[in-house]
Amino acid sequence: MHWKLLTYLEIQALDRATTVPILPVGAIEAHGPHLPLCTDDIISEAMAESACRQLPEYGLRGIILPTWSFNPAGFAREHSGTLHFSAATTRAMFQDLGDNLQAQGWRTLAVANSHFDPTHLESLKQALQNLPLQIAFPDLTRGQNARRLTAEFQSGACHAGQYETSIVLARQPQLVKDHQLPQVPHSLVEAMRQGKSTFAEAGGPRAYFGTPAQASPEEGRLTVEELGRILVEAIFSTTR
Ligand SMILES: [Zn+2]
Repeated sequence: MHWKLLTYLEIQALDRATTVPILPVGAIEAHGPHLPLCTDDIISEAMAESACRQLPEYGLRGIILPTWSFNPAGFAREHSGTLHFSAATTRAMFQDLGDNLQAQGWRTLAVANSHFDPTHLESLKQALQNLPLQIAFPDLTRGQNARRLTAEFQSGACHAGQYETSIVLARQPQLVKDHQLPQVPHSLVEAMRQGKSTFAEAGGPRAYFGTPAQASPEEGRLTVEELGRILVEAIFSTTR
């Protein structure tokens, strides 16, 4: 169920106590020579749809808001096509969205985020703290969530590698170019800790890390299932 495809009367009729708006959050940024700029959008949308499939088990249903892509993407700013926005843009958008939802009687906002630029994550967390809504936001970079995802993701080589390429292969294989690329075994997480601020400085001049050559649609499908489960559990514990 997609928010923007409904009529105002259909939205009006939805039960606010059991329906949860889910916002996919991504970015428009370089994802190697093989994946589209909107890779994080694709992953977050897959996570939101997976959650919608699983929510009825908990007596809930999801409604997917239009994807929000205009976020800080400083690590990829040197690569063509990347659209890099200030943290203030992210904060302002969430404030306005929260006010809209509250005014229409919504109680909870769930956030499906798969864009891990440090400035973005920080602004996202700040933005969510001030909203007049209950928030379900599982931060996938935190240990308890990361441990449920793949070994490559946990290694910190989590940009346009096996993990992300697998999900795009599962969802939109026609968008994946040749991914038989040499491994780039550097941890972005470690590079961020060392104060690096671009993909090139972090050891990934072609805007990918990890092992895209090992990607498979099967892995992508399993990951999407797990991402949905993580979001559903966060929603359930927030609305209970
Ligand atoms: Zn990504």
